[in-house]
Amino acid sequence: MSQLIEHSDSPRFIRLHPQDNVMVVVNDQGVPAGTAFAEGLVTVDHIPQSHKVCLEDVPEGGRIIRYGQTIGYAKQLIPCGSWVREDQLSMPTAPELANLPLSTDVPEAQEPLEGYTFEGYRNADGTVGTRNILGITTTVQCVTGVLDHAVKRIREELLPKYPNVDDVVALTHSYGCGVAITATDAYIPIRTVRNLARNPNLGGEALVISLGCEKLQAEQVMHQGDSSVDLTDPWLYRLQDSSHGFAEMIEQIMELAEVRLRKLDQRRRETVPASELILGMQCGGSDAFSGITANPALGYASDLLLRAGATVMFSEVTEVRDAIYLLTSRAENKEIASELVREMDWYDRYLAKGEADRSANTTPGNKKGGLSNIVEKSLGSIVKSGNSAINGVLGPGERVTRKGLIFCATPASDFVCGTLQLAAGMNLHVFTTGRGTPYGLAMAPVVKVSTRTELAQRWPDLIDVDAGRIATGRASIEELGWELFHYYLDVASGKKKTWAEHYKLHNDITLFNPAPIT
Ligand code: CA
Repeated sequence: MSQLIEHSDSPRFIRLHPQDNVMVVVNDQGVPAGTAFAEGLVTVDHIPQSHKVCLEDVPEGGRIIRYGQTIGYAKQLIPCGSWVREDQLSMPTAPELANLPLSTDVPEAQEPLEGYTFEGYRNADGTVGTRNILGITTTVQCVTGVLDHAVKRIREELLPKYPNVDDVVALTHSYGCGVAITATDAYIPIRTVRNLARNPNLGGEALVISLGCEKLQAEQVMHQGDSSVDLTDPWLYRLQDSSHGFAEMIEQIMELAEVRLRKLDQRRRETVPASELILGMQCGGSDAFSGITANPALGYASDLLLRAGATVMFSEVTEVRDAIYLLTSRAENKEIASELVREMDWYDRYLAKGEADRSANTTPGNKKGGLSNIVEKSLGSIVKSGNSAINGVLGPGERVTRKGLIFCATPASDFVCGTLQLAAGMNLHVFTTGRGTPYGLAMAPVVKVSTRTELAQRWPDLIDVDAGRIATGRASIEELGWELFHYYLDVASGKKKTWAEHYKLHNDITLFNPAPIT
């Protein structure tokens, strides 16, 4: 687990870009008014930890600059040394989608990293699992109670007989019936359910439990001719086929499960190149440290993984929307840049339907953590994507089919994003948090990275890696990036378990359903 460190009490701040006219205070308790920094600045307010201090007098209407970009305009004079609060700023308008730079500044490929491997489970369709899990998916919420009961018994009575299988997981969700299944956007939840069953960590051996009369039919979830699922053995049970009630349902599900458990138990880990890793990245409970410690470390590690040939996904449309011009320019070609624009446009219209806009993203916790608005949050969020070219774009629920850096379009909601990244095929997840969350998923290991050391110290049995060491100068971004890179490979190999895995902290599968419910 991560090394915890002590803080010194001298006032410290971080300034990221030479043009920035604010800096972020890093001391645990913040700093009182009248604090003199070694750099000469004297504060005129109490500044809480991870909040911004103004480095110059900014007149009314003047720009507040962080990451070298404008994050807001002063509504009144903000004096040098004062606390820059969200209510003092008006937010810049979102960048227009019409005239974005498309593939104008594509980073050159960095030198390949050879020889890095992990121990994984090879699947028939060419993907590699980092865990060996029996997944039992569902076509409708009606079956959840019965399936949960069956899974409890499978865990207690069958799983101990098959020690090479890590777990059995019910993929329960609220879709499948009482929904407008032919609506324009219904393809999103449907393909998500279908692709979840194809996640590499389920080894192509997922089962389907159906009720029988629902709108979403089992054949839409699994169908002949798909090489990524095994349909040679029985793979489906419909509860309405039971002629002897609940007891028979449980018996039938357990029987199906045992056939699969026997097969999964035969599997062994083998050495595979690091290029087989499909990492999904996201953040939740962000603060102003996210963009200076944890996310840059993830960005460095992403670049390393990409040099090793892996697939790295970043997501969260509302958290990239305001910085989209910095991404479209990095797209490998104009088509990929246009796909990025297409996903932003789709989401703009989706939000407009609900008469919401991007400002709905930031939470009270974000603001308490020093993030003034979504512009500032976005700039800190996209740092996760590192400095490589963007090689592909996935729509929500779509499965990844190529290696490289991929933008997987999802809402920023932790559970919806995690679910869609699982559907995309992620076999390892990394999650950065500033305010703290015990988030975890059943189908893939989740590495949790704290933005601050104070959080890692308070939650030593929930946070896997402390990136706050970057703020205190105990580790560089580069050092932490390499540490994460090795940590990913160890977790992927099953040599290390994350805390969420250890305690089985599993958030629900949460489908993104932008279509009507009937
Ligand atoms: Ca999130």
